Amino acid sequence: MTASSTAGDLGALKSRNRASLLEWLRRQPGLTRAELAQRTALTKVTVGAAVQTLLDQGWLVEGDLLRGGSGRPGRALSLNPDSHAILGIEIGVHGLHVLAINFHGQILAQRHQAVVPTRPDDTLDQIVPMVRELIRTALSHRTLLGVGLAVPGPTSPEQSRLSLAPNLGWRDVPLLEMLRQRLPELGDDSRRFWCMDNEAKAAAFGELYCSPSSGQDAATPSSLLYVSAATGIGSGLVVQGTPPRVIRGVHGLAGEIGHTLLAPGGKPCHCGNHGCAETLVSGWALRDALGIEAGASLSEGIKHHHDPDLVAETLNQAGEALGLLLLNLHLTLNPERIVIGGSLVKLGAPLLDPALAFFTRHQNHLLPQAPPIPVRILDDSLATAARGAAAQVLCQLLARHDEFATDE
Ligand SMILES: [Zn+2]
Repeated sequence: MTASSTAGDLGALKSRNRASLLEWLRRQPGLTRAELAQRTALTKVTVGAAVQTLLDQGWLVEGDLLRGGSGRPGRALSLNPDSHAILGIEIGVHGLHVLAINFHGQILAQRHQAVVPTRPDDTLDQIVPMVRELIRTALSHRTLLGVGLAVPGPTSPEQSRLSLAPNLGWRDVPLLEMLRQRLPELGDDSRRFWCMDNEAKAAAFGELYCSPSSGQDAATPSSLLYVSAATGIGSGLVVQGTPPRVIRGVHGLAGEIGHTLLAPGGKPCHCGNHGCAETLVSGWALRDALGIEAGASLSEGIKHHHDPDLVAETLNQAGEALGLLLLNLHLTLNPERIVIGGSLVKLGAPLLDPALAFFTRHQNHLLPQAPPIPVRILDDSLATAARGAAAQVLCQLLARHDEFATDE
């Protein structure tokens, strides 16, 4: 072994050690150096040196002396919530969302524009000023480390292209690179991490990664399924691990439940097929069924609809279709927890009650003794996909910290 390869190995080892400490402190903020040494099985000297580097780089902060226990008092360490920021952006079928999170996954600031995207170019031209305004007004004192983009359709396997957005009519668009080119002040810097993912997958990741219980083993689910019920219907499955793993499938199609067939030969779908789940339960199918214009608010259109009986019957049928999808997902993926978000949640009990009732009624047919799978409804999920996309960046940054750290 040459001297340079030995030095390289040592550098890689130190890098892995720092990444391991960052991950422990993300999961359990407040650990001391001695506790970190215990948990990582590294020596106290190694932990001390790594922690000092991370403090110097501004990635960690230390708090008060903690007394108690048998050993010497130590200082509580945590990821620095005030030093850095990560951008999360969602291109939705009915709106654009831009936000920034810190190392704790907390949203620092966010902006929303209710707009129906037309062409990719024009949409990105609308996003860029939102990003710049957010950086100027809310992030000027922070180091910006990366950008995560969430999109309304499956991405290519390497996650650089949006393969298809059926509800926008976009196909094979290199959105991530197009956004980078429009933000040269961020895009040319190799010290920033960029990534793109489908909105439901990003949301699933964020719900698992940023939940308050993340990392506390008893409370963290081994897998989480996010169902995005909006203009279209999608889902994302994330399996716990370091890092948590998003299930994509070979073409990025895993979770595209909106286009699974529930009614073969049924109504035409935007994807070109007939009888997809989206023809029974989706924002666009409800608009179609109730004669509400594409650009109008669905909840307002429903509230003021001239035929309340038709509304009730339509929402009930759509709710049962959603329940059927939940059951199929439960029996194909068997996630430990299910979270439902998206704009359709705002339609409330008339849609959700039949969905949950159907799921509850049928989920234990195969295994009557199994505990029921908890389903959480997100009343406000406007920021969920954008935050999830930012969380995916954060996860990469912590694992590959040396590539993105600068000495303060
Ligand atoms: Zn379809």
